[in-house]
Amino acid sequence: ERVGFAVVGLGKFALNQILPSFAFCRQAKLVSLVSGDAAKAREVARQYGVPESGIHDYANYDRIADDPAIQVVYVILPNALHAEYTQRAFRAGKHVLCEKPMAVSSAEAREMIAAGRAAGRKLMVAYRAQYETFNRKAIEMIREGELGKLRLITSDHGRPAKPEEPADQWRLQRALAGGGSLFDVGIYAVNAMRYLSGEEPEEVMAMTQSDPDDPRFREVEDRTTWQFRMPSGLLCNGSTSYSYFETKRLSVLGTDAALRMDPATDYDLRRMWVSREGEREAELLLPMNNQFAAGLDHMAECVRENRDPRTPGEEGLRDMLAMEAIYEAARTGRTVRVGTP
Ligand code: NAD
Repeated sequence: ERVGFAVVGLGKFALNQILPSFAFCRQAKLVSLVSGDAAKAREVARQYGVPESGIHDYANYDRIADDPAIQVVYVILPNALHAEYTQRAFRAGKHVLCEKPMAVSSAEAREMIAAGRAAGRKLMVAYRAQYETFNRKAIEMIREGELGKLRLITSDHGRPAKPEEPADQWRLQRALAGGGSLFDVGIYAVNAMRYLSGEEPEEVMAMTQSDPDDPRFREVEDRTTWQFRMPSGLLCNGSTSYSYFETKRLSVLGTDAALRMDPATDYDLRRMWVSREGEREAELLLPMNNQFAAGLDHMAECVRENRDPRTPGEEGLRDMLAMEAIYEAARTGRTVRVGTP
């Protein structure tokens, strides 16, 4: 029997990426939808075979407690709503899979972790790149020492924000988004620096920049560049933006070899190259997986086998702490030490 999921929020990401991915799952199944738009919910329910009894709205959300078919609640709402809907799901006795960024502050992230612990339920942050074969391969190569000692990780993640698109409207409002491009796309670079190195940033330096006459950046910032110093001495250099051309790349420079991925974290395209001394850079061809289905199945497996997810709440909290340190470093112009969970 598969593990039943309720999807909360039928926005762009849920409709275009997550709901279709249930068809590729082996352990997770869609059993419930939570939406503020009854007509949309009915239409989507019909499309995916969700029973009428599985349709809920935000007002009667807490009634998910009475639906034993729902084991996991997947929160795909604007960032500022993640904490509330996660905590209410725990109160309803459900496990939670939550979109990135986990919350809008480390304080909220801590409350979410504590609520899951108190309820005896699991919390996973949906870091899809960590369930994706090329990124897994990169981690494996690094752990096996194929690049030698890591010296520098560089990653740029950004895209132009489009105020005419509903999905970008809340992203440009501080109260709903919590931050600018760093919280939305820069988080992929922050997370990659941590999972590729297996280290936690100790020190951070950063700058932010927004064009003062660009109306998109009245409330949230546009570009951020940052540097991490890791405990081993590894340095990382990151950038993120809501105004540059769509970019999702990373590179890892080791003493013996280099690896680069471009795009590294796209929905459906991945390319990776490795260069070693005396050899021409070679593209590594791997079978692609459905990273969304892989994440859903991982959560289902953790629930069924009572295991901790690979990307638990603590993983989300680490990124929140690192991003808060980036903002503080940019604001103060000083080197900032990253907070500890
Ligand atoms: P979206 O705006 O398309 O979807 C958000 C949904 O929340 C909408 O259906 C909206 O109606 C609903 N909603 C409920 N209450 C709301 C309120 N008070 N204000 C505004 N909307 C409200 O956005 P999206 O792009 O689907 O993003 C949703 C979440 O998923 C975000 O946390 C985002 O960071 C995350 N996301 C993750 C990925 C990924 O690759 N992992 C990709 C895109 C989005």
